[in-house]
Amino acid sequence: MPTPLYPASPSRLLAWLDCPRRYRMQYLDRPKPEARSQRAHTSVGIATHNVLRDFWDLPQSRRTPEGVAELVRTSWIDVGFRDPEQSASWRARVTESVVDYLRQVDRHRQPLGLERAVALRTDSITVTGRVDRLDDRDGTVVVVDYKTGRQAPSEDDARTSLPLALYAAGAARVFRRPCVRVELHHVPTRTVAAYEHTTESLERKIAEAESIAGDLRRVDADFAERGIESLSFTPRPSPLCTWCDFRAHCPEGQQMGPEKSDWAGLEAVDPSGLRSSVESIEEKP
Ligand code: SF4
Repeated sequence: MPTPLYPASPSRLLAWLDCPRRYRMQYLDRPKPEARSQRAHTSVGIATHNVLRDFWDLPQSRRTPEGVAELVRTSWIDVGFRDPEQSASWRARVTESVVDYLRQVDRHRQPLGLERAVALRTDSITVTGRVDRLDDRDGTVVVVDYKTGRQAPSEDDARTSLPLALYAAGAARVFRRPCVRVELHHVPTRTVAAYEHTTESLERKIAEAESIAGDLRRVDADFAERGIESLSFTPRPSPLCTWCDFRAHCPEGQQMGPEKSDWAGLEAVDPSGLRSSVESIEEKP
């Protein structure tokens, strides 16, 4: 029997790299340990993504600041904020930043895809993911990923991002057109961090995904055999544990300091290094 292809997603691959224990709790343990409640910065991120998707469903005549404000109002997720005043203040802030961001976008030019599913198949894996936006620029496809954290991403972030490279490879196959340019659009600052891949750099990223998936195939099998007795899922404590959704189930992570408040991501530091906040956006249906 040929070995079945390993079904991967960028989030799954990155979860393993972040922390094997968290990967196990998120993807293997059944019943799945209860994750902590949603934080405010995740609510802001999901609402912003939803508005930037639904904006393109509006008729041209309603693609206005007022139309955006209405979308923010109806998309708002009032979860994780300190109090109603903080929620209202961030709703106004998101409205302003999305309006400003869309001012630099040609609102008459419909994107090629919005939250579009793309898939990639190699000899050993299948990768599926959902891309925030795909643009058609002079016959080529461009991957656009929205960011909403406090810190604007750098060109190095665009260059090294595994998900962006896999999206580009997947989009090229889905649309049968070149797709080598990936862009991180930081909505609050309206900055764009971009990178142009080459065939070789995309191949290197696909090989990286295959290598990680090879590790996952091995540890998944170990888990299937030994369950939580498996030694493959060593916790990897770090300062990011104070943001981890599963730290209530992880004594080692609890040693890393007090848990951050639900709204800490809005105010103090940028938690974007903990990828779970991004995953909830990437993997939403
Ligand atoms: S609390 Fe830290 S060590 Fe524990 S699962 Fe989360 S990230 Fe891993």
